[in-house]
Parts: sequence; C-alpha cells; structure tokens
Amino acid sequence: MFQHRQLPRLILLVLGFAALAGGAGLLAFRYSLAVGMAELQATGRHRLDLYAASLEREIDKYAYFPTTLGLERDVLQLLSAPTPERGEQVSLYLEQLNERAGSLSIYILDRAGRVVATSNWRRADSFLGEELAFRPYFRQAMDGGSGRFFGIGTTRGEPGYYLSSALSDEHGTLGVAVVKVGLKQLEKSWGPVEAPALVADENGVVILASVPSWKFTTIKPLDEATRSAFDRTQQYNRQALHPLGVTELADLQHGARLVRMPAVEPKTVAMFPVAGTFVAQTQALAGTSWHLTVFSSQDQVRGDAISRAAIAGVGAAFLFILMLLLNQRRRHLSDRLAAQAALQRAHDELERKVAERTADLSAANRRLQREVAERTQAERTLRAAQDELVQAGKLAVIGQLAAGVAHELNQPLAALRTLSGNARKFLARGNHDTASGNLERIGDLVDRMGRMTAQLKSFARKSSGQPQAVPLRRALDNALFLLEQKLKQSGAGVSIDLPPQELLAWCDPNRLEQVLVNLAGNALDAMAGLPRPALEIGARSEHGRILLQVRDHGPGLSEEAGRRLFEPFFTTKEAGQGLGLGLAISAGIVADFGGNLSGANHPQGGAVFTLDLPAARDTEHD
Ligand code: ADP
Repeated sequence: MFQHRQLPRLILLVLGFAALAGGAGLLAFRYSLAVGMAELQATGRHRLDLYAASLEREIDKYAYFPTTLGLERDVLQLLSAPTPERGEQVSLYLEQLNERAGSLSIYILDRAGRVVATSNWRRADSFLGEELAFRPYFRQAMDGGSGRFFGIGTTRGEPGYYLSSALSDEHGTLGVAVVKVGLKQLEKSWGPVEAPALVADENGVVILASVPSWKFTTIKPLDEATRSAFDRTQQYNRQALHPLGVTELADLQHGARLVRMPAVEPKTVAMFPVAGTFVAQTQALAGTSWHLTVFSSQDQVRGDAISRAAIAGVGAAFLFILMLLLNQRRRHLSDRLAAQAALQRAHDELERKVAERTADLSAANRRLQREVAERTQAERTLRAAQDELVQAGKLAVIGQLAAGVAHELNQPLAALRTLSGNARKFLARGNHDTASGNLERIGDLVDRMGRMTAQLKSFARKSSGQPQAVPLRRALDNALFLLEQKLKQSGAGVSIDLPPQELLAWCDPNRLEQVLVNLAGNALDAMAGLPRPALEIGARSEHGRILLQVRDHGPGLSEEAGRRLFEPFFTTKEAGQGLGLGLAISAGIVADFGGNLSGANHPQGGAVFTLDLPAARDTEHD
C-alpha cells in the first residue's frame, strides 16, 4: 500500500518512464528513418542508373538501323526510281532485317511520306503505300536528318518507338527510313526489376512501366491543346490517358521526391509493392526526351524504423528499470551503512562512557584505597598511641603498686626472717618437726611472693592484642590483685557474683584486666571517704555474650559526667589524681574486641558500668 506522500513520486516515476521510453523510441525512429531513407535513395539512384543504362543500350542498338539503310544501293534506287520489283526486293530485305533485329517493323518512306517498302509487306495489314507524312518522326527526319518518336501504331494499334533517319544521295534527301521498336523489346532490357519503374515521354505519358496498368497514364496534367495535338498525330491512337494519380508529398535531397502511389485496380500481382509511399527518383534518358522514374518503397524502411523504435523504447524502459533497481539497491546499501555507522557511534559512545565510568571507578577505588590506607595508618598510629597510653597507664598503676608491693613483700620477708631464724633454733634444739613446719611455711610464703612477682611481670608485659579465650575469673583476680593496696586503703567490701561454670571472654587478657582495673579503680575512687564502701561485681553469659557489671555505692554519675564519660581528658578528679583517659581507653579496647562499655546510675544509688564482650566458643552453651 502506497503512502500518500509516495504518490507524487510514483506519478513522476511513471511520467519519467513514459518520457524516456517514448523519447528513445522517437529518436530511434527518426534516426533509423533518416538512415533508411538515405540508403533507400542510394539504392534508388543505383537502380535508376542501372535501368537507364540498359534502356539506352537497347535503344542505341536500333538507332543505327535507319542510318545504315541509307547506304543500301537498292534502297536509294527504289527512292530515286521506284518500281514494283525494286519495292518488293527492298521489302524482302527489310523483312529479313526486321526478323534478325527483333524490331516491330522497318520501312521506307519517300519524300512525300508514302510507304514504298516495308518489312510487313506480306501481311494483310501491311502499311505499304500508306501516307504517313503526318507522323512527327517523318517530319523530324526530313527537317533534321533524324527523328525519334514514341507512338501507337495507326494500323495495328501497337505501341512502339520510332527511330527515323533521312536517306540522301548527292542530290539531296530521297526519303526516310524508319524502324519501330516494340516496347516489350525495350522492357526486356530491364530484366527482373526489383522496384516499380516507369518511363514517361516528353508529354508526361507513361510509355514503359513495370506495372502494366500504369501504361498510358499521365504523370502530369494535359491541357486541351496538347490533347488535340495528340488527336492530330494519333500519337497515342486515342488512348484514354487517365492520370496515374501520383501524389507528391515532399521534395527530398538530390531531386528525389516522396510520393504516394495509388492502389492499382484490379490488384496487380507484383514482386514488390506498387502502392503506398515511395521515394521517386527521375533521370532523363540520353538521346531521348524521355524520363525514367524509379520508385523505392518506403514501407520497409518505415517498418524497420518502427521496430527499431520499439526495441529502443523497450531497451530504454529496461534501462530505466535497471537504473531504478540499482538506485534502490544503492539507497538500501547507504541506509544500511548509515545504520551501521549509527550503531558503531552508539557502540563507541557506550565504550567511551564505560571507559569513563571505569576511569571514575578506578579513580574512586584508588581514592578509597588511599583513604583505607590512610585510615589503616591512622588506626595503626592510634593503636600505637593507645598501646603507649595503656602502657603508660600500667606504669602509673605499677608506680602506685610499687609501694603496695614493697609493703606486701615486706610482710612475708619479715615472716621469712622470723621463720628461718626460728627454724635454725629449733634445729639446734633438735626439734625437727617444728623446724620442718617452719620450712614448709617458708616455702608457701616464697610461692606466694613468686606468684605476686609473676603477676606484676605479666601485667608489665606488652600485650600482643590478639584475642583469645580469657577466663573471666582469672582476669578479675588479676585486676583485684593489682588493686589490692587500694582496696585495703579504702576498706571497701568486694562481692563477686559469678556463675559456677567458667566464663570465657573473647579478647586480650591484659587489656581486659586493664579495663577491669580501671572500672574497679573508678568505683573505689567514687566511694573514697564514704562510710560503707562496697564494690559489687557480677557477670553472666547471655546469647553468646559475656555481660559483666561493676557497681559501686558512690554518688553516681553527675549529669555532665554521664554525657562526657568517654571523652578523653574528661575528669572531675583533682590534679595528679586522674588524667581523664581511663574510660576513653577502656571503651576503645572493648570496641576493638567487638564489645561495648556503658555507664549509668543504679536505681538504688551509685554508678553501674556494664561491660559487654563476645563470649569465646567454649562458653556458648547457655
Ligand atoms: P579519671 O579516673 O582519671 O578521672 P576516668 O576516665 O576513669 O578518668 O573517669 C572520668 C570521670 O568519670 C571521673 O573523673 C569521674 O568524674 C567519673 N567517674 C568514673 N567512674 C565513676 C564512678 N564509679 N562513680 C562516679 N563517677 C565516676
């Protein structure tokens, strides 16, 4: 189905198609016709030359006949002194001559135009003795020495060509010799003609024609004077002399004309067309006043031109269609190329965008990596700082401890001295049992001191920071041991509430102890100077977590302390008493192990700090 906007294009195409085919056909027709016509004229001219030459040759053959008769003594004698015997003798001679020559008749006229001897003397219709002075050929010969005349015989009505020649002796003209050549004889010379041809005499009367019905027609109008002259000379023996009816259509080059020949009735059977449009070419016949005209049919040329025009039209149409198809194909190809190019462009654009995004991503990735590296570095620095602080914190505690430890060790050392001194005395007295009892106690005391120093050593050691399963009870014991001095000074009662099974937290033991020391230390600080200080420590395992609470019976957290509890350097303690770093570091340590530290006021007074740590797998059975 055509779209509306395609309709004008379709009409244009059809018009172009028609114009091209029509134009090509017309051109081919014109060209072919021109070439054909030129060829036709050349052929016509050739035929004209050929026919004229053979006709002239035929006429010339007879032309010398009458002249040679003037050389015959018998003939001259007959004319100068006519006798019946001489007449008969000459007639016999003429009869033989006529027979040999194939002419219609040969005869001799005396000066008065009377026939004195004739080749047809024996025949009933012989014109011997006839008066023929009225015939133009007689007058022409008498006046000019020779004559030529076409005419129809008065006696037998036979058309022929009369060739006459004056017969003279030394005294002057004696008479005229005439030979009449039949038209058939002349026509023979044309042989098998290939085209219609005719010979018209000076009056325009057709005397020879390859089409029988054309004979004795006229090719130019006759006026009345001419017609009456014909009657007088009986030239055409009262033939009707109808016009042939040639219509002149156009003058062509070199004297050729385009004519239309009428249809002949009844239809003449001929080897060539006799009616229709012809190229007529005319030429004068030498030695006569006749004109030979050859007609070459234009039908063949026209037919050829029409078929060539048709071929050219079809060819042009075919070419047009071919061009359309090629154009269509070209357009199709260029569309495809354009689509491909568009696709390529889209593809390139996509690739460009992907490359851009990749570049963005890798830039972002690099940035991220840099940030991570920076962060890691920062964390490392922080961790180092934290370690340092922890260490510093420990050293501070150790500093505090030193006095306590010295005091602690002094007691067993004094006991050791006493016990060892007593043991020596008992040994000297022979009281071995008591001595051995003393030595046993000495051993216990040394063990206790060893444990104390071992704990101090482990506390002073820098931790690896790697999480492991840490028994909560031991961590608590260690922490309280470190605070032993402080506990004694404060006089606080410590109650520990732990479930019977071992609680294992997943963290670093040193750091956990550090946190516990810190929480318990703060609690003792808060209760310093109060009448009944009491420290309550409880722990339980819950959903894979270890929850430990340190509660005191101090004044609790003030509003500001509650807000800024974990802020570094926040402290309410006097200078030299606290740095305000304990809870900040503790919270950091707890967070490192995936735990949480929070502080709040207990409903029954005092502060309670809750430590939430991941449990090691061993204790995940609750
Ligand atoms: P420092 O003990 O050196 O002051 P901390 O970070 O351990 O540093 O504690 C910060 C502050 O939090 C303390 O100065 C105190 O005001 C408050 N605080 C800590 N523990 C308690 C507690 N158990 N009861 C009351 N206040 C406390």
